[in-house]
Amino acid sequence: MALKSLYKEYWKTVSKEKGAWYADIKKAPPAQPWYNKLKQYNRKLIVTINRLRLGHCRTPSHLYKLQLVQNPTCPECQHNFAGLQHIFFQCPAYRIQRLILVCELDLVSEGVPVSQILQTLLYTEKYTNYFI
Ligand SMILES: [Zn+2]
Repeated sequence: MALKSLYKEYWKTVSKEKGAWYADIKKAPPAQPWYNKLKQYNRKLIVTINRLRLGHCRTPSHLYKLQLVQNPTCPECQHNFAGLQHIFFQCPAYRIQRLILVCELDLVSEGVPVSQILQTLLYTEKYTNYFI
């Protein structure tokens, strides 16, 4: 079996237990890091986006997983599991921030549709309906 096929199999197996959010975003291992074409961005931005893609950020669900908080509930709307999907796409408390994000992405998009930018950052088809 070719090395690439072995890596894909490893990706499938490991992603069931680790990096499930990222595996949901990216169905197959990337040939090159997503930021290869974005060398002009600073390291802090790339690290922040990588944390979002991996689900390793200060959401109640992740802090709960790390046993740093007592429950994964959203402090804004009391949704029982405040992960990235909830905060980015569902929480009614962040409607304005969501609108600002889309507007600001539109300003710097240079003609690329905002939905496409978000797909690039957090790709999975099930989330695009929130922005189209
Ligand atoms: Zn909420």
